[in-house]
Amino acid sequence: MSKEKQFETEAVRTQSERSQYLEHSTPLYLTSSFVFEDAEDMRASFAEEKVRNIYGRFTNPNTTEFIDKVCKMEGAEAGFAFATGMSAVFSTFGALLSSGDHIVSCASIFGSTHSLFTKYLPKWNITTTYFKVNDVDKIEALIQPNTKIIYAESPTNPAVDVLDLEMLGAIAKKHNLLLVIDNCFATPYLQQPIKFGADLVIHSATKLMDGQGRVLGGVAVGRADLIREIYLFSRNTGPALSPFNAWVLSKSLETLAVRVDRHCENALKVAAFLEIHSKVNAVKYPFLKSHPQYDIARKQMKAGGNIVAFEIKGGIEAGRKFLDAIKMCSLSANLGDTRTIVTHPASTTHSKLSEADRMETGILDGLVRVSVGLEHVDDVIADLEQALGHY
Ligand SMILES: *Cc1c(COP(=O)(O)O)cnc(C)c1O
Repeated sequence: MSKEKQFETEAVRTQSERSQYLEHSTPLYLTSSFVFEDAEDMRASFAEEKVRNIYGRFTNPNTTEFIDKVCKMEGAEAGFAFATGMSAVFSTFGALLSSGDHIVSCASIFGSTHSLFTKYLPKWNITTTYFKVNDVDKIEALIQPNTKIIYAESPTNPAVDVLDLEMLGAIAKKHNLLLVIDNCFATPYLQQPIKFGADLVIHSATKLMDGQGRVLGGVAVGRADLIREIYLFSRNTGPALSPFNAWVLSKSLETLAVRVDRHCENALKVAAFLEIHSKVNAVKYPFLKSHPQYDIARKQMKAGGNIVAFEIKGGIEAGRKFLDAIKMCSLSANLGDTRTIVTHPASTTHSKLSEADRMETGILDGLVRVSVGLEHVDDVIADLEQALGHY
């Protein structure tokens, strides 16, 4: 789908066809199936001679609207929507890879994606080799004759590192590999990986796309031939997004640009506050000049996103005490919510990793991740400040 109007306009004006009631806002199509005129209509529909809805596991008007919107935002040809971000990730690999294939992936990826690569895909003889964020120049050496996909997230979770998408795109093209990018942290408003050579872009819509901590969802968009394979796989295996969640998510996208603008503005202020605090060793935020990949972030992102990582002085114990002293912000596993969320990866999400593995992926003992929300930023900073002064 080509991008016809400005991002904000497409977000608001991309809508499924109006019904006979001429509703202004898209209604919710809570129906598991659709009816046929006659036997011939049914035959032709199943033969895909007609583009129409058949059954909710395949398509639904609400999911189609959501997918069309994300396609326009990402500059993608086609897409498919999923119940969760993880089902988008799993279905993409399940559809595109065969036994014996190999993935080259950044080591700093979402925890469940890492588990998929290390625990589950090997059951089907699909293997993965990891590169470190700082070793992108060594990626080519990791490519094997059976490598099919290069996979990465940028910015990364939870260390907020930035990978050079243009460089990844060039490597993938040179070696005739697919480049698949999880664009969850940036959203299509801040960064469109397809512009830099990505073949597919995956999102957990649960995060900033919903942005209000209500529903789970996922989406994969990109090259039409690849999406066709993902669609056929999903149509048979059943990870489809519910119409209700698609309806919520499509409405959420109408406000993505204004929400993410404010998230980024608040996050930059939080990062600037932390950077000069005496109990903080270092702050990572893509649009702070001190960020190791600041120039790459400026090249490929419109703003720095809503995640700020910082290293608190005093290691694991200090991180836990800091969390206990937080009053307003939430301790929660989600991110990209209106409510600011604070986590301490070393003692929670990444506590099962060995210390060496944690260091490799930038998860220092005192690392705190803040998903900056939409409260007034002064109140967010005040909460962080009182918690930092607490021990
Ligand atoms: C949350 C997340 C996922 C998984 O999404 P779910 O909707 O929770 O299944 C995948 N990738 C990234 C980067 C995420 O933050």
